[in-house]
Amino acid sequence: MRKLREFYIGGRWVPALSTAGHTLIDSTTEQPFDTVALGGRNDVDAAVMAAKLAFPAWAASEPGERMALIRRIREIYSERVEDMARAISQEMAAPIELARTRQAPAALRHMTNFLAVMEHFEFVRQLGPHAPDDRILMEPIGVVGMITPWNWPMSQVALKVVPALLAGCTMVLKPSELAPLSSVLLAEIIHEAGAPAGVFNLIQGDGLTAGARLVEHPDVAMISFTGSTRAGASIMKGAADTFKRVALELGGKGANLIFADAEEDAVERGVRQCFINSGQNCNAPTRMLVERSIYDEAVEKARTAAQSIAVGPSSAEGAHMGPVISERQFDRVQSLIETGIREGARLVAGGIGRPAGFNRGFFVQPTVFADVSNDMMIAREEIFGPVLSILPFSDEEDAVAIANDTPYGLTNYVQSSDGARRNRLARRLQSGMVEMNGQPRGAGSPFGGVRHSGGAREGGVWGLEEYMVVKSVSGWAS
Ligand code: NAD
Repeated sequence: MRKLREFYIGGRWVPALSTAGHTLIDSTTEQPFDTVALGGRNDVDAAVMAAKLAFPAWAASEPGERMALIRRIREIYSERVEDMARAISQEMAAPIELARTRQAPAALRHMTNFLAVMEHFEFVRQLGPHAPDDRILMEPIGVVGMITPWNWPMSQVALKVVPALLAGCTMVLKPSELAPLSSVLLAEIIHEAGAPAGVFNLIQGDGLTAGARLVEHPDVAMISFTGSTRAGASIMKGAADTFKRVALELGGKGANLIFADAEEDAVERGVRQCFINSGQNCNAPTRMLVERSIYDEAVEKARTAAQSIAVGPSSAEGAHMGPVISERQFDRVQSLIETGIREGARLVAGGIGRPAGFNRGFFVQPTVFADVSNDMMIAREEIFGPVLSILPFSDEEDAVAIANDTPYGLTNYVQSSDGARRNRLARRLQSGMVEMNGQPRGAGSPFGGVRHSGGAREGGVWGLEEYMVVKSVSGWAS
């Protein structure tokens, strides 16, 4: 049974106090399929109280005990991974194959990676031989409020819940009101794994009521937020009066620099990476910057690659692209495509309206614009749909200038067989991550950005320390 009118607070499922609700819409059929309760102030306060009461004991627990809990969670999650894939596919419309192969297993990977970090993590550290009686204590920060988006729902949740549990924090999770199902399942898994009551709490709700209450709550020590840059700014302001730590993972407008000496399949790879998850990725390489000498050829390759992408319902098997999440998102993407055309960009694939064969559902055509200039709206705004902009550049200087001319700074990409150039660019691109020649970043590397992409670091040792306070002590008895 789906617990959408209950919240997981203090180790049990309790009915929502608020009577507000949000209707969940199937993105393929546009039909409602359920309603989730939207928690109010009293619901949030009850969850925070439970987390506050559970904090002293959990903070004092042995790291080994916390690792054992994560191992049990991982085991139960593995057994229920198909249920998780189905929940994700239904709530945010990922095609079931994508949900099975990428979305649902991402949380398992995060658990394994954080457990590996814990193996060598020192909670009590020496300052140095010059101060033998000094110690640095790494302590859990307290009650953490977690606010997450819908696009990689369980990956985002796991990147917060797992390290916070391992650090010794207690928490209140508020997932996106558009994607509540996967977090209900996670709460069931955490309960079955035997987490002490109040350590993990789940409330459902929207940003303006439940989210905002978590942000201003005096007993919450930290907000870990993943979502839009707009909401991130409002959260920073809302957290100021209570001096919370705020960790923000926000939007992006990644540049993919393709030089004439790039690998043969660099353009096609860039197109596919831009359109995965229907283009709803914060780190999508949405601005493809191409060296002028290979520009015309690259545009043709991008056209072919985009036209080869099949579109289909979330429930159908196969490696197709699904719809975008909501009518609102569909309308926004359509309006930005219209803007691109109006501003004079050259449409080379896709365009306005649903793909052929669809008369309903939030399906968007895989769309490619060429001859985009970096001051056009489609090059500046995070579109969050399957829309790629291609821009020419003349040389390395020009490419760096265009890439860095954005308020965002999450991931940039470089394609070149010249190693010295790659290393130069890795330093000059203003972003938290740089991925080169299609090589994925390794397990335990930190995910996060700079500037309007937020400054949080999730994953690896950085993602664990995010939930800790550094205490500096002298006169420690050895
Ligand atoms: P959103 O900002 O609309 O909502 C995200 C979450 O914040 C939801 O739970 C929502 O209820 C809540 N929220 C909204 N306004 C709030 C407020 N004023 N106070 C408190 N909570 C509030 O974002 P979304 O549409 O769910 O997700 C898409 C966005 O997330 C994109 O901009 C994307 O780039 C970003 N994102 C970033 C990362 C990253 O790691 N940097 C990862 C995934 C998604």
